Amino acid sequence: MNIAVVGSINMDLVYQVPHIVKAGETLHSTKHEMFFGGKGANQAVTAGQLGADVNFIGNVGVDVFGEQALQNLQARGVNTSAIKKVGLTGQAIIQLADSGENSIVLFAGANFLVTTEQIQAERSKIEASNALLLQLEIPMPTVEFAASIAAQKGIPIILNPAPAQEISNSLLSKVSILTPNETELEVLTGLKTETDAELYQACSLLVQKGVGAVVVTLGEKGSYYLNSHEHGRIQANQVNVKDTTGAGDAFNGALAVGLCKGHSLKESILYASEVAAFAVTQMGAQPTLPSSF
Ligand code: ADP
Repeated sequence: MNIAVVGSINMDLVYQVPHIVKAGETLHSTKHEMFFGGKGANQAVTAGQLGADVNFIGNVGVDVFGEQALQNLQARGVNTSAIKKVGLTGQAIIQLADSGENSIVLFAGANFLVTTEQIQAERSKIEASNALLLQLEIPMPTVEFAASIAAQKGIPIILNPAPAQEISNSLLSKVSILTPNETELEVLTGLKTETDAELYQACSLLVQKGVGAVVVTLGEKGSYYLNSHEHGRIQANQVNVKDTTGAGDAFNGALAVGLCKGHSLKESILYASEVAAFAVTQMGAQPTLPSSF
Protein backbone atom coordinates (compact mmCIF):
# COMPACT_ATOMS: atom_id res chain seq x y z
CA MET A 1 0.00 0.00 0.00
CA ASN A 2 1.57 3.19 -1.24
CA ILE A 3 0.40 6.65 -0.14
CA ALA A 4 1.82 9.94 -1.42
CA VAL A 5 1.55 12.98 0.85
CA VAL A 6 2.18 16.44 -0.56
CA GLY A 7 2.10 18.89 2.32
CA SER A 8 3.53 20.75 5.26
CA ILE A 9 6.09 20.04 7.96
CA ASN A 10 6.26 22.20 11.12
CA MET A 11 7.78 22.41 14.55
CA ASP A 12 5.12 23.16 17.16
CA LEU A 13 6.60 25.30 19.96
CA VAL A 14 4.24 25.30 22.93
CA TYR A 15 4.61 27.84 25.76
CA GLN A 16 2.49 27.54 28.90
CA VAL A 17 1.62 31.07 30.13
CA PRO A 18 -0.54 32.50 32.96
CA HIS A 19 -2.56 34.34 30.28
CA ILE A 20 -2.20 35.09 26.58
CA VAL A 21 0.43 37.82 26.27
CA LYS A 22 -1.00 41.31 25.66
CA ALA A 23 0.41 43.93 23.28
CA GLY A 24 3.61 45.35 24.76
CA GLU A 25 3.68 42.86 27.62
CA THR A 26 6.58 40.53 28.52
CA LEU A 27 5.58 37.32 30.22
CA HIS A 28 7.50 34.38 31.67
CA SER A 29 6.49 31.02 30.28
CA THR A 30 6.15 28.39 33.02
CA LYS A 31 6.68 25.39 30.73
CA HIS A 32 7.91 24.82 27.20
CA GLU A 33 7.50 21.79 24.98
CA MET A 34 8.31 21.11 21.35
CA PHE A 35 6.29 18.76 19.17
CA PHE A 36 6.66 17.68 15.59
CA GLY A 37 3.73 19.01 13.56
CA GLY A 38 2.45 20.28 10.24
CA LYS A 39 -0.72 18.75 8.85
CA GLY A 40 1.11 16.93 6.07
CA ALA A 41 3.70 15.41 8.41
CA ASN A 42 1.08 14.46 11.01
CA GLN A 43 -1.04 12.63 8.44
CA ALA A 44 2.00 10.94 6.90
CA VAL A 45 3.22 9.69 10.28
CA THR A 46 -0.19 8.21 11.07
CA ALA A 47 -0.43 6.45 7.70
CA GLY A 48 3.15 5.18 8.05
CA GLN A 49 2.53 3.75 11.51
CA LEU A 50 -0.58 1.99 10.20
CA GLY A 51 1.52 0.09 7.68
CA ALA A 52 1.46 2.24 4.54
CA ASP A 53 4.55 2.97 2.46
CA VAL A 54 4.44 6.76 2.60
CA ASN A 55 6.29 9.03 0.19
CA PHE A 56 6.37 12.64 1.36
CA ILE A 57 6.86 15.55 -1.03
CA GLY A 58 7.51 18.87 0.71
CA ASN A 59 10.11 21.10 2.35
CA VAL A 60 11.90 21.63 5.61
CA GLY A 61 14.25 24.53 6.30
CA VAL A 62 18.04 24.65 6.23
CA ASP A 63 18.13 24.76 10.03
CA VAL A 64 18.22 22.55 13.13
CA PHE A 65 14.43 22.14 13.17
CA GLY A 66 14.54 20.94 9.58
CA GLU A 67 17.08 18.26 10.38
CA GLN A 68 15.12 17.15 13.45
CA ALA A 69 11.85 17.03 11.50
CA LEU A 70 13.47 14.93 8.76
CA GLN A 71 14.91 12.49 11.29
CA ASN A 72 11.54 12.21 13.01
CA LEU A 73 9.78 11.36 9.74
CA GLN A 74 12.41 8.79 8.85
CA ALA A 75 12.24 7.21 12.30
CA ARG A 76 8.49 6.88 11.87
CA GLY A 77 8.73 5.09 8.55
CA VAL A 78 8.10 7.95 6.12
CA ASN A 79 10.21 8.05 2.94
CA THR A 80 11.82 11.53 2.90
CA SER A 81 13.79 11.34 -0.36
CA ALA A 82 11.45 13.93 -1.96
CA ILE A 83 11.75 16.44 0.89
CA LYS A 84 13.90 19.44 -0.01
CA LYS A 85 15.77 21.74 2.37
CA VAL A 86 15.09 25.40 1.65
CA GLY A 87 14.56 28.57 3.72
CA LEU A 88 13.41 28.16 7.31
CA THR A 89 11.36 25.32 8.77
CA GLY A 90 7.67 26.11 9.33
CA GLN A 91 6.76 26.87 12.93
CA ALA A 92 3.62 27.08 15.02
CA ILE A 93 4.29 29.23 18.09
CA ILE A 94 1.57 28.31 20.54
CA GLN A 95 0.71 30.10 23.78
CA LEU A 96 -1.26 27.86 26.08
CA ALA A 97 -2.91 29.86 28.88
CA ASP A 98 -3.63 28.32 32.30
CA SER A 99 -7.34 28.84 31.47
CA GLY A 100 -6.94 26.43 28.54
CA GLU A 101 -7.23 29.22 25.95
CA ASN A 102 -4.60 29.26 23.25
CA SER A 103 -3.24 31.57 20.58
CA ILE A 104 -1.10 30.54 17.65
CA VAL A 105 1.35 32.36 15.40
CA LEU A 106 1.91 30.29 12.28
CA PHE A 107 5.09 30.80 10.28
CA ALA A 108 4.77 28.87 7.01
CA GLY A 109 8.47 29.20 6.10
CA ALA A 110 9.65 26.42 3.80
CA ASN A 111 6.10 25.12 3.37
CA PHE A 112 5.23 28.14 1.24
CA LEU A 113 8.23 27.32 -0.97
CA VAL A 114 6.87 23.96 -2.19
CA THR A 115 6.66 24.59 -5.94
CA THR A 116 4.92 22.97 -8.90
CA GLU A 117 8.38 22.34 -10.40
CA GLN A 118 9.27 20.29 -7.35
CA ILE A 119 6.07 18.27 -7.72
CA GLN A 120 6.78 17.75 -11.42
CA ALA A 121 10.26 16.41 -10.57
CA GLU A 122 8.72 13.91 -8.14
CA ARG A 123 5.56 13.10 -10.10
CA SER A 124 6.50 9.42 -10.38
CA LYS A 125 5.98 9.13 -6.60
CA ILE A 126 2.41 10.34 -6.98
CA GLU A 127 1.81 8.19 -10.06
CA ALA A 128 3.01 5.06 -8.23
CA SER A 129 0.69 5.60 -5.25
CA ASN A 130 -2.66 4.06 -4.33
CA ALA A 131 -3.85 7.39 -2.93
CA LEU A 132 -2.75 11.03 -2.71
CA LEU A 133 -3.25 12.84 0.59
CA LEU A 134 -3.39 16.65 0.49
CA GLN A 135 -4.02 19.57 2.88
CA LEU A 136 -3.86 23.35 2.40
CA GLU A 137 -0.73 24.44 4.31
CA ILE A 138 1.29 24.76 1.09
CA PRO A 139 0.57 27.08 -1.89
CA MET A 140 -2.76 26.38 -3.60
CA PRO A 141 -1.23 26.15 -7.14
CA THR A 142 1.04 23.39 -5.85
CA VAL A 143 -1.91 21.51 -4.33
CA GLU A 144 -3.82 21.89 -7.62
CA PHE A 145 -0.89 20.64 -9.66
CA ALA A 146 -0.36 17.57 -7.47
CA ALA A 147 -4.07 16.82 -7.72
CA SER A 148 -4.00 17.07 -11.51
CA ILE A 149 -1.19 14.48 -11.69
CA ALA A 150 -3.17 12.02 -9.57
CA ALA A 151 -6.42 12.72 -11.41
CA GLN A 152 -4.80 12.01 -14.80
CA LYS A 153 -3.90 8.53 -13.52
CA GLY A 154 -7.22 7.93 -11.77
CA ILE A 155 -5.52 7.84 -8.36
CA PRO A 156 -7.94 8.67 -5.49
CA ILE A 157 -7.34 12.07 -3.91
CA ILE A 158 -8.14 12.73 -0.25
CA LEU A 159 -8.15 16.47 0.44
CA ASN A 160 -8.27 17.81 3.99
CA PRO A 161 -9.28 21.44 3.26
CA ALA A 162 -7.47 22.92 6.27
CA PRO A 163 -6.77 25.67 7.19
CA ALA A 164 -10.15 26.94 5.98
CA GLN A 165 -10.11 28.65 2.60
CA GLU A 166 -12.02 28.70 -0.66
CA ILE A 167 -11.26 26.00 -3.23
CA SER A 168 -11.72 26.21 -7.00
CA ASN A 169 -14.43 24.10 -8.64
CA SER A 170 -11.71 22.60 -10.81
CA LEU A 171 -9.89 21.21 -7.76
CA LEU A 172 -13.12 20.10 -6.06
CA SER A 173 -14.10 18.09 -9.15
CA LYS A 174 -10.88 16.04 -8.83
CA VAL A 175 -11.32 15.17 -5.15
CA SER A 176 -12.47 11.66 -4.23
CA ILE A 177 -12.90 12.38 -0.52
CA LEU A 178 -13.05 15.84 1.05
CA THR A 179 -12.60 15.97 4.84
CA PRO A 180 -13.53 19.40 6.25
CA ASN A 181 -14.40 20.11 9.88
CA GLU A 182 -17.54 22.19 10.50
CA THR A 183 -15.79 25.55 10.11
CA GLU A 184 -14.07 24.53 6.90
CA LEU A 185 -17.36 23.19 5.49
CA GLU A 186 -19.01 26.54 6.24
CA VAL A 187 -16.24 28.45 4.48
CA LEU A 188 -16.41 26.13 1.45
CA THR A 189 -20.19 26.31 1.04
CA GLY A 190 -21.34 29.52 2.75
CA LEU A 191 -23.98 27.35 4.44
CA LYS A 192 -24.74 26.60 8.09
CA THR A 193 -23.45 23.27 9.38
CA GLU A 194 -25.03 22.69 12.77
CA THR A 195 -27.85 20.20 12.27
CA ASP A 196 -27.80 16.96 10.28
CA ALA A 197 -30.18 18.57 7.76
CA GLU A 198 -27.74 21.47 7.32
CA LEU A 199 -24.80 19.10 6.99
CA TYR A 200 -26.76 17.18 4.34
CA GLN A 201 -27.36 20.39 2.33
CA ALA A 202 -23.75 21.57 2.56
CA CYS A 203 -22.23 18.19 1.68
CA SER A 204 -24.71 17.71 -1.18
CA LEU A 205 -23.62 21.03 -2.67
CA LEU A 206 -20.02 19.81 -2.75
CA VAL A 207 -20.99 16.45 -4.27
CA GLN A 208 -22.90 18.38 -6.98
CA LYS A 209 -19.61 20.14 -7.72
CA GLY A 210 -17.94 16.80 -8.38
CA VAL A 211 -16.51 15.76 -5.02
CA GLY A 212 -16.83 11.98 -4.65
CA ALA A 213 -17.66 11.94 -0.94
CA VAL A 214 -17.57 14.42 1.92
CA VAL A 215 -16.58 13.34 5.43
CA VAL A 216 -17.12 16.15 7.98
CA THR A 217 -15.24 15.74 11.25
CA LEU A 218 -17.17 17.08 14.24
CA GLY A 219 -14.67 16.67 17.10
CA GLU A 220 -16.18 14.85 20.08
CA LYS A 221 -19.46 14.67 18.13
CA GLY A 222 -17.87 12.26 15.66
CA SER A 223 -18.33 12.68 11.94
CA TYR A 224 -20.92 12.95 9.16
CA TYR A 225 -20.48 11.53 5.68
CA LEU A 226 -22.28 11.81 2.39
CA ASN A 227 -21.72 10.51 -1.12
CA SER A 228 -24.07 10.06 -4.06
CA HIS A 229 -25.85 7.04 -2.55
CA GLU A 230 -25.53 7.15 1.24
CA HIS A 231 -25.15 9.48 4.18
CA GLY A 232 -25.00 9.17 7.94
CA ARG A 233 -23.33 10.00 11.19
CA ILE A 234 -20.59 8.07 12.99
CA GLN A 235 -20.17 8.60 16.74
CA ALA A 236 -16.78 9.43 18.24
CA ASN A 237 -15.24 6.75 20.47
CA GLN A 238 -15.35 7.60 24.19
CA VAL A 239 -11.85 8.17 25.57
CA ASN A 240 -9.99 10.14 28.25
CA VAL A 241 -8.98 13.20 26.26
CA LYS A 242 -5.51 14.69 26.83
CA ASP A 243 -4.83 16.79 23.74
CA THR A 244 -7.04 17.11 20.67
CA THR A 245 -4.32 18.79 18.57
CA GLY A 246 -3.98 16.81 15.36
CA ALA A 247 -7.15 14.73 15.85
CA GLY A 248 -8.18 15.59 12.32
CA ASP A 249 -4.75 14.64 11.01
CA ALA A 250 -4.82 11.21 12.65
CA PHE A 251 -8.31 10.78 11.22
CA ASN A 252 -7.15 11.65 7.68
CA GLY A 253 -4.06 9.45 7.77
CA ALA A 254 -6.09 6.50 8.98
CA LEU A 255 -8.93 7.15 6.53
CA ALA A 256 -6.45 6.96 3.65
CA VAL A 257 -5.07 3.66 4.96
CA GLY A 258 -8.57 2.19 5.42
CA LEU A 259 -9.56 3.07 1.89
CA CYS A 260 -6.28 1.78 0.42
CA LYS A 261 -6.88 -1.51 2.23
CA GLY A 262 -10.09 -1.77 0.20
CA HIS A 263 -12.53 -1.02 3.03
CA SER A 264 -15.81 0.76 2.27
CA LEU A 265 -16.16 4.45 3.05
CA LYS A 266 -18.16 3.73 6.21
CA GLU A 267 -15.73 1.04 7.43
CA SER A 268 -12.82 3.38 6.77
CA ILE A 269 -14.50 6.18 8.77
CA LEU A 270 -15.06 3.79 11.69
CA TYR A 271 -11.38 2.85 11.54
CA ALA A 272 -10.29 6.51 11.31
CA SER A 273 -12.52 7.39 14.30
CA GLU A 274 -10.89 4.69 16.38
CA VAL A 275 -7.38 5.86 15.49
CA ALA A 276 -8.26 9.56 16.04
CA ALA A 277 -9.80 8.76 19.44
CA PHE A 278 -6.60 6.95 20.41
CA ALA A 279 -4.58 9.96 19.20
CA VAL A 280 -6.40 12.43 21.50
CA THR A 281 -5.34 10.40 24.54
CA GLN A 282 -1.73 11.50 23.87
CA MET A 283 0.01 14.89 23.90
CA GLY A 284 1.17 16.41 20.62
CA ALA A 285 -0.08 16.08 17.07
CA GLN A 286 1.85 12.93 16.15
CA PRO A 287 0.64 10.06 18.34
CA THR A 288 2.48 6.79 18.81
CA LEU A 289 0.09 4.12 17.57
CA PRO A 290 0.13 0.47 18.61
CA SER A 291 0.81 -2.07 15.85
CA SER A 292 -2.56 -3.68 16.59
CA PHE A 293 -4.35 -0.94 14.57
P1 ADP B 1 -9.90 18.84 13.39
O1 ADP B 1 -8.72 18.64 14.31
O2 ADP B 1 -9.52 18.80 11.95
O3 ADP B 1 -10.80 19.98 13.75
P2 ADP B 1 -11.82 17.14 14.70
O4 ADP B 1 -11.60 17.88 15.97
O5 ADP B 1 -13.17 17.22 14.09
O6 ADP B 1 -10.74 17.49 13.60
O7 ADP B 1 -11.47 15.59 15.01
C1 ADP B 1 -11.34 14.63 14.01
C2 ADP B 1 -11.89 13.32 14.50
O8 ADP B 1 -11.18 12.91 15.67
C3 ADP B 1 -13.35 13.37 14.92
O9 ADP B 1 -14.20 13.16 13.81
C4 ADP B 1 -13.40 12.22 15.93
O10 ADP B 1 -13.57 10.98 15.26
C5 ADP B 1 -12.02 12.26 16.59
N1 ADP B 1 -12.07 13.08 17.83
C6 ADP B 1 -11.83 14.40 17.97
N2 ADP B 1 -12.01 14.81 19.24
C7 ADP B 1 -12.38 13.70 19.94
C8 ADP B 1 -12.72 13.44 21.32
N3 ADP B 1 -12.73 14.42 22.24
N4 ADP B 1 -13.02 12.16 21.65
C9 ADP B 1 -13.02 11.16 20.75
N5 ADP B 1 -12.72 11.34 19.44
C10 ADP B 1 -12.40 12.58 19.03
